[in-house]
Amino acid sequence: MTETEHAVALPGEPGYAAATAVFNLAAPVRPAAAVTVRTVEQVRAALRHARHEGRWVRVHTTGHAASSARPMDDSLLIRTEPDGPVVVDPVARTARVPAGARWGEVVEAAAVHGLAAPHGTSPTVGVVGFLLRGGISFYGRRAGLAVNSVRAVELVTPDGEFRRVSASEDPELFWALRGGGGGLGVVTAIEVGLFPAARVVTGAAFWPASHGPELLTRWLDWTGDAPEAVTTVFRVMNLPAVPGIPPELTGGPVVCLAGVVLSPTEDGLATAERRAADLLGRFRAVAGPVLDTWCTTTPSAVVGTHMDPTDPVPVLGDHQLLSALGADGAETFLKVLGEGSGSPLVNAELRQLGGALAVPDPNGGALSHLDAAFAFTAGGLAVDQASAAAVRAHCAEARSALAPWDTGRTAPTLVERLEQPQRHLSAAAVERVDRVRRRVDPSGWMRHDVPPGASARY
Ligand SMILES: Cc1cc2nc3c(=O)[nH]c(=O)nc-3n(C[C@H](O)[C@H](O)[C@H](O)COP(=O)(O)OP(=O)(O)OC[C@H]3O[C@@H](n4cnc5c(N)ncnc54)[C@H](O)[C@@H]3O)c2cc1C
Repeated sequence: MTETEHAVALPGEPGYAAATAVFNLAAPVRPAAAVTVRTVEQVRAALRHARHEGRWVRVHTTGHAASSARPMDDSLLIRTEPDGPVVVDPVARTARVPAGARWGEVVEAAAVHGLAAPHGTSPTVGVVGFLLRGGISFYGRRAGLAVNSVRAVELVTPDGEFRRVSASEDPELFWALRGGGGGLGVVTAIEVGLFPAARVVTGAAFWPASHGPELLTRWLDWTGDAPEAVTTVFRVMNLPAVPGIPPELTGGPVVCLAGVVLSPTEDGLATAERRAADLLGRFRAVAGPVLDTWCTTTPSAVVGTHMDPTDPVPVLGDHQLLSALGADGAETFLKVLGEGSGSPLVNAELRQLGGALAVPDPNGGALSHLDAAFAFTAGGLAVDQASAAAVRAHCAEARSALAPWDTGRTAPTLVERLEQPQRHLSAAAVERVDRVRRRVDPSGWMRHDVPPGASARY
């Protein structure tokens, strides 16, 4: 590491650009100062510096959530980078993950032992931000909200103290860290539970959007009693003709069925394949897909299924947790987002929740389940002012069209905008987290790191 890498940098100084780099180019962050840290000592030094300069403390890893972060004026932004490898304990079925690591690294390390991690759709999302905000995994209907897999957290609290917290070491702080909304310290490592995953059936199949009404109806029917081992997402996409995107998908809007069927053991593979065939058969009976990547493969392939961009992009979007849609909901969804809607959004999707995602974990933290049928997310590219305005306007149109199904709650990881209505904790949970915050951060140095939804009640 060079000297400048962990030296606090002001705008324009060496290290500032690297420490403030974010995945979402539409949401640049401009803190008063920034630093990249790799060790507990460097975190402590950064906290001392912030205190000395009278700055608030903020923390990030990849900036995947930059669009929902509060402004960073008068703040020191700490960027955590991994110090050491992801270490898997195959007997305990856990991974110790240094803060700053991305999910792709954990997936690879776990796969060597026939294990899988509760990751989402992208290999480049940061493990800490995803887990501590809840995390809707691609295995979620089977494994539950990803935060319930956290076994221990190592962090430096705003008072400069290094702590390892778990169910038996400061259980109250451990409870608040898991879904409480942050602002409790700078995490330096996290221990996460893994699960057996011999094989998966996974992929994405695409049809012209003219088939949207029939396919969405069939998917919604199927979700009514879908097996928990299957997590799927229904998408409408308007993909730009750029390198890396298959040409079959860029001639106009397409609808997509993507997902994962887990087989924990080799013996279970026939069941997994049968489940996938049942679902896909209903879709293929409507029309042959223009592109179909569904296949039996290893769990490490799952991070590629959703085809998320891995390089930074400028995105604006929105998110709501929805109740069951029915025929009216399907019609409304496609009227505002499907063929003929004029939607400029690159992606609008319904991710099926339920299953283990809906079950509160008695050993969980502040957020341990999601009470909704679908997670709706939508987003478009904001390459200039005109495209940004068009995306914002269409997101607003979709939000108001879907209002009858809006639960009024959100999944914290999927919140796309600072000003979006956000709620995910009960009143009692908000008060309990606030008590912990007052204990570990009595001066409120990290209070601006708490997104607005974490202090709203439902
Ligand atoms: C392409 C893409 C795909 C996605 N797929 C999914 C998905 O499948 N499921 C899902 O649930 N979400 C998904 N998300 C959302 C993603 O999980 C959230 O944006 C998550 O918060 C990102 O975490 P991060 O650390 O990468 O982001 P960052 O913006 O770096 O961090 C987000 C927040 O986490 C906290 N944080 C980060 N690092 C630390 C640390 N070291 N110590 C303390 N706090 C820290 C901070 O409060 C920070 O503001 C996706 C996002 C994108 C852009």
